[in-house]
Amino acid sequence: MRVAGKVALISGGARGIGGAAARLLAREGAAVVIGDLLEDEGRETASQIIDSGGRAMFVAMDVTSEDDWRRAIDAAVSAYGKLDVLVNNAGISGRFIVEETSVELWDRVMAVNAKGVFLGAKLAIPVMRQAGGGSVINISSIYGLVGSDSGASYHASKGAVRIFTKSAAIQYAKDGIRVNSVHPGFVDSPMTESYHEQPEIREARVAATPLGRMGLPEDIASGILYLASDESSFVTGSELVIDGGMTAQ
Ligand code: NAD
Repeated sequence: MRVAGKVALISGGARGIGGAAARLLAREGAAVVIGDLLEDEGRETASQIIDSGGRAMFVAMDVTSEDDWRRAIDAAVSAYGKLDVLVNNAGISGRFIVEETSVELWDRVMAVNAKGVFLGAKLAIPVMRQAGGGSVINISSIYGLVGSDSGASYHASKGAVRIFTKSAAIQYAKDGIRVNSVHPGFVDSPMTESYHEQPEIREARVAATPLGRMGLPEDIASGILYLASDESSFVTGSELVIDGGMTAQ
C-alpha cells in the first residue's frame, strides 16, 4: 500500500501506460481519477479497478481544454476530497520529419503533449497546495532527451515537458509540490501497436535497447508509482529514464 490514502488524477488513463499506472496506483491504495478522450475504454478501466476492490472514476476530458481540466480536478476533489498526485500522461505521436510536418500536426502535437501538461500543472498546483503538497509526474519520453530520424513535433513537445518540469519543480518546492519527468523508452502500447507490428521497426528498436526487449506499460507504471509515493519525497526536478538502457549509449 505504497500510496494509501492518496488521490491521483491520470490524464490519458484509459489505456496504455496511463491505464497501467491507474491500475497500479489503485492497487497500492490510491483513489484514481481517469481523465481521457476515450469514454468507453476509460469507463472500462475504472470498472476493472472497482471490480478488483480499488477506488476509481472516469472523467471525459481533452487535455488541451482548460475548462476540461477544471472539471476533472473538481470531480477528483468532490469525489475524494483532495488531489495529491497528477500524472500528466496523455500524449499523441507525430512521426514525421521536419519537412513533412504540417503546421496543423505541429500545433496539435504541441497542444496535447506540451500545453496539456502545462494546463494540468497550472490547475492542479493550487489544489495540491491546499492539501499541503503533492506530486506532479509529467510523462516525457527518451525522445525528449535525444533526437531520432522519425520525428519533429514529438521531440519538441517532449523536450518542452522535460524543461518545463524543472522550472515548475523549482517554483513550487516551497509548497511541498514535487514535479518530475518520466522518460519511457520503446514501449508496446496502443500508441505504438501498428508501428511495432512492422518487423523491421520492432527489430531495430529491440536491437537499440541494451536490455534486449520492448518495454511494457507496467515498467513505466512502476516508476510513476515511485514518484507518486512518499518514497520519492526528496526527489524533484529529476528525470526518471525507463528505457532498458537505450539512452545510456
Ligand atoms: P496510448 O495512445 O496507448 O495512450 C495515450 C492515452 O492518452 C490514450 O488513452 C488517449 O486517448 C489519451 N489522449 C490522447 N490525446 C488526449 C487528449 N487530447 N485528451 C485526453 N486524453 C488524450 O499511448 P501510450 O504509449 O500509453 O503513451 C502514454 C504517454 O507515454 C504519452 O505521453 C506518450 O507520448 C508517452 N510515451 C510513450 C512511449 C511508447 O513507446 N509507447 C514512449 C515514450 C513516451
